[in-house]
Amino acid sequence: MGKATGFMEFKREEAEERSPLSRLNDFKKYSAPFSDEVLSRQGARCMDCATPFCHIGMDISGSTSGCPIHNLIPEWNDLVYRGRWKEALDRLLKTNNFPEFTGSACPAPCEGSCTVAISDPAVSIKNIERTIIDKGFANGWITPKIPKNRTGKKIAIVGSGPAGLASADQLNQAGHSVTVFERSDRPGGLLMYGIPNMKLEKKDVERRVQLLTQEGIDFVTNTEIGKDITAEELRKQFDAVILCTGAQKQRDLTIEGREANGVHFAMDYLTKATKSMLDSNFADGNFINAEGKDVIVIGGGDTGADCVATALRQKCKSVVQFGKHPRLTETRTDDNMWPAFPQVFTLEYAYEEAEQKFGSDPRQYSIQTKKIVKDENGNLKELHTISMEKVKQADGTFMFNEIPGTEKVWPAQLVFIAIGFEGPEQPVLQQFGVDTKFRKIDAKYGEFQTNVEGVFAAGDARRGQSLIVWAINEGREVARKVDQYLMGVSHLPTVNA
Ligand SMILES: Cc1cc2nc3c(=O)[nH]c(=O)nc-3n(C[C@H](O)[C@H](O)[C@H](O)COP(=O)(O)OP(=O)(O)OC[C@H]3O[C@@H](n4cnc5c(N)ncnc54)[C@H](O)[C@@H]3O)c2cc1C
Ligand code: SF4
Repeated sequence: MGKATGFMEFKREEAEERSPLSRLNDFKKYSAPFSDEVLSRQGARCMDCATPFCHIGMDISGSTSGCPIHNLIPEWNDLVYRGRWKEALDRLLKTNNFPEFTGSACPAPCEGSCTVAISDPAVSIKNIERTIIDKGFANGWITPKIPKNRTGKKIAIVGSGPAGLASADQLNQAGHSVTVFERSDRPGGLLMYGIPNMKLEKKDVERRVQLLTQEGIDFVTNTEIGKDITAEELRKQFDAVILCTGAQKQRDLTIEGREANGVHFAMDYLTKATKSMLDSNFADGNFINAEGKDVIVIGGGDTGADCVATALRQKCKSVVQFGKHPRLTETRTDDNMWPAFPQVFTLEYAYEEAEQKFGSDPRQYSIQTKKIVKDENGNLKELHTISMEKVKQADGTFMFNEIPGTEKVWPAQLVFIAIGFEGPEQPVLQQFGVDTKFRKIDAKYGEFQTNVEGVFAAGDARRGQSLIVWAINEGREVARKVDQYLMGVSHLPTVNA
């Protein structure tokens, strides 16, 4: 365990962050690494409790609690406390293919269910994870692991997000020949185009793809399965296919004025910003520019927060974010007790930055957009809203009622729609002939086999928009099933041992 009395002696320390105003001048990572000394103290806080909840990885009341890939957290906390970094890395890589992604952008459901968090702030698990992998790369401990033997079996993976990458990594290590098809110009899925650079640096994604390439995985970009190569052709050329196409069909706003110039989907905004940054450091101008504009983000989630942070970096004139739900409480409520994921108010990086820049939190709660108004040229002019009241019904469900007299008009020249996703895009699924349920691919968790022989599915395309860590979980598990399907038996590890 860490230090026996560590949890009583040491307080939780947060990773240092660059000051909110200075980081608005670039798109670089906003957090700075911990020193070894601080990390050793943080590792010492782990109690190595008899039944650790930090790695249970299960849904409680609709949210993830504990680590879904069951990272061996108490073990590496102890090793970090003792300064045994190489061993900590070995333990971490047993369960997590890509700790640099989760260590940067995971919402850390492990920390919400950490036993220390019953009475005190949790152990800084995510920052410890990030530092272990950073040290692994910095010290040259991570080198290409090229499989010694090849099975002769060929596997096609459609989509190069974390689910596709994790399954490719596992299957390649099992000796199969793996080709990953990606319709974008760069591999990585939402790790590349979606999550902004300040949260997850693209050089980290590129470094990992390069490593996987050196290990023998083929990446074929700018190739859309269903258009450039048909489903039938792919099935003929490969012994098995895994669909990891994500759930990127965006939910639209069906209100008056939606067609106004200046109203965009959040994903178009975020994708173009990252692509332009990578292609030309924004010199090509191929992005939606918020400079000097009043920006409104519709949708209170993390995608919306990423739009706020991007608009701030582009020097918008003002920014607000509309959310349907009321503000969360500062502490857990009676129906959200440990070890459930804490549904409490937090000041994420984007909101802290907006507060410092404009003097107030950009979030507007319990608000609904009624209509969008255009000027005579069809350009976005203003948004009309009304406040809502969330009312609990007798059956436990909630209704949102408009509050008369709370109508408001908001001037805006740019609006981003970030009200969620409807699941995977359907045409490619139809071409494969796979069954869907609630618009997601119908393949049972643990089996991952679709109704079509030799065609499997994993990640957001199967479970709906989720988290990187769940995509890694599914990528690892589907790999085991495909290995079994091809070889009769699999020696790949299972997440759920
Ligand atoms: C803006 C945003 C921010 C997020 N931030 C976080 C975060 O901070 N932390 C976190 O844990 N999660 C976050 N998420 C969620 C997380 O990114 C996803 O859950 C995860 O990426 C899903 O992985 P995946 O591999 O299933 O799919 P994706 O990452 O969506 O990848 C699917 C890939 O398939 C490709 N594809 C689709 N169809 C085809 C086809 N026919 N042919 C070829 N290629 C195809 C797509 O181009 C895409 O690259 C965020 C999501 C969004 C939208
Ligand atoms: S992957 Fe996420 S949940 Fe698991 S240990 Fe890392 S930060 Fe925690």
